[in-house]
This record gives sequence, C-alpha cells and structure tokens, in this order.
Amino acid sequence: MRAMYYEQFGTAPEIRTLPDPTPTNAGVVISVKATGLCRSDWHGWMGHDPDIKLPHVPGHELAGTISAVGRDVRRFKLGDRVTVPFVSGCGHCMECRSGNQQVCEEQFQPGFTHWGSFAEYVAIDYADQNLVHLPEDISYETAASLGCRFATSFRAVVDQGRLQGGEWLAVHGCGGVGLSAIMIGAALGANVVAIDIAEDKLALAKALGATVAIDSRSVADVSEAVREVTGGGVHVSVDALGHPQTCCNSILNLRRRGRHVQVGLMLADHATPAIPMARVIAHELEIYGSHGMQSWRYDAMLRMIRSGKLSPDRLIGRRITLTDAAPALATMDSFRENGITIIDRMI
Ligand SMILES: [Zn+2]
Ligand SMILES: [Zn+2]
Repeated sequence: MRAMYYEQFGTAPEIRTLPDPTPTNAGVVISVKATGLCRSDWHGWMGHDPDIKLPHVPGHELAGTISAVGRDVRRFKLGDRVTVPFVSGCGHCMECRSGNQQVCEEQFQPGFTHWGSFAEYVAIDYADQNLVHLPEDISYETAASLGCRFATSFRAVVDQGRLQGGEWLAVHGCGGVGLSAIMIGAALGANVVAIDIAEDKLALAKALGATVAIDSRSVADVSEAVREVTGGGVHVSVDALGHPQTCCNSILNLRRRGRHVQVGLMLADHATPAIPMARVIAHELEIYGSHGMQSWRYDAMLRMIRSGKLSPDRLIGRRITLTDAAPALATMDSFRENGITIIDRMI
C-alpha cells in the first residue's frame, strides 16, 4: 500500500510502499476513502506524543469501506461503509464496560498507538466495539471530518459542558475543533462568542452561527471583553486551541458556577499550565477534560447531521492528495489552514 511514513520525529515524512495490513481476530482492515489532517498529527510527528513508536504512519480521522474482516468480528462485513472514533476502547476494561471507551485503559488509537490512515489501508482493532456504520447519505469526506475534531467537540459541548439552549458559550480558538463547537453550540440554541486572532477564521465562525466574534489582539483583556459582552460571563467555555493563555482566559470568562472544558491538547512545555484555582473555588467553577467520543454516541450526532441541524461538511477547507499531505503535515504549526483539510485521494 501507499502510505505516509517517517522514521524520525521532525524529519520530512515520505510517501512509501509498505506491506498491506492484516486484521487481528477482533479487527478489520479499512480501505481508506477520506482522512483528515489534524494538529494532533503534527504534534505526533514533532515527537510530543509518547504513544508513538517509530517508524510510524500517522492519520486518525478516517472513513472507508471494510476490505478484510477478522474471524471473531460479528457486526461488520466486507464492503461496509464505516468510520471510527480516534480513541477505540478494548471493550472489556472497567471504563469500556461503563460506556466510557474514550478513556479506555488499553485504548487503540490509529495514527498514535498503531499505524494510521494516511495510507490506502488501515487496520483497526476491536471492531465490534468501536466501528460506526455510515449511512449512505453521509459522504466519506464528511465522516472523516467527524473523526476527532467534530466528535470531540460534540462530547465537549453536549456531554461534558452540558450546554443548554439560551446559555452563553465561549469558544477560544477557531480551528477545526473550535468551529465545530460553535456550530454545535448554535444548533443547541446557545449564544456563542468566538475568539481568535485571525479575521478569516472569525468570519467563518460568524457564518457558522457565532453571535459575537472577538479578535483577541484588539482587546486589552479577553476574559473581560467576554464577560462584558455576555453580561457577566458565559455558562460554558471551551479552550479549543490548547495553550496556557487560552486555557486561563477560558476559565476567567466564566460566570459563577460556569463550566470550562479543555479540548485543545496541552503538550510538551504547555503540559502543566498555571490556572486560577482561587477563582475556581470562589465561583464554584467546574473544570473538565474532553477526550474523543464513544462510538455509541455517534447516533445522536449523526441524527443531527442527517436532519440538517449540523453540517460538518461546511468545515471542510482544502481537499488534497496523500502526496500533498506530507509537506502539509510538516507546516501545520503555521496555522494557515482555514477549516479542516481532507485527504480524499490516496495518490
Ligand atoms: Zn477498555
Ligand atoms: Zn484529530
């Protein structure tokens, strides 16, 4: 198979011909039809993710058809159209049995713990517990765009943040995760404040349902600006970027008893940010992490997509080939992308 491959962190990834994968007894092989390029792939390539063992094939946001099936798989067959959450659960640990596969103790993550989907084929373990059947009216590109950013935002806003219609939501950072959170918040009937430093991203945020857009470079204090425009702060706030400053702003712009949800990854030098814990105590704030979404929660998200309330395809920016993706991965830290980049041809 053709695949993106690297032997060292931080050196240019290459497109190579590698052996086709074979399924485990409980796994499948998926012929990849579309796969998203995500900042987590860049972090992995930089060596920020201890799960990655070299050499490596990245890619974790994927959709395709099943091309090989392990002998113990019951719910899926050859040719099925499927997608999979980027965190797959083992199905038998305490977390999986309680329905929390997204924090499984033995999790399988394509593109991190195992070789991923920047390839013609990808092997996925624990298929019965994790694969999601794709309805015919959801395209592979749309499904790939759900993979981590949209699904993660869905869980962050709906399940962790418990956002209600009529509440205020602040979203710090308008990349793929942030724009997804804005669209989901607006669909739930919340009023959304979008915060970023890029005018084109803020314009897209407003087009996707943000009520207010704040350019964080144009205000002296971001949390003050949010508190002012919302009459005392937001009910739910998401740090979609993953930076000590946006994390801190996201906590400080909450109203009393508000909920902060950390979605943007905090890696390397940013792994242990200072947060205003005195405010957390005095205002009884709630601080949550959010890490992927269980496959069984896809039903609710897919229903909102099929009814037209959510349109993740509007987040898709560029569509590129696998060959184009190698240099695109290596330059991701420059934040030039607007929306989600999808690899839709494995050439
Ligand atoms: Zn498990
Ligand atoms: Zn991702």
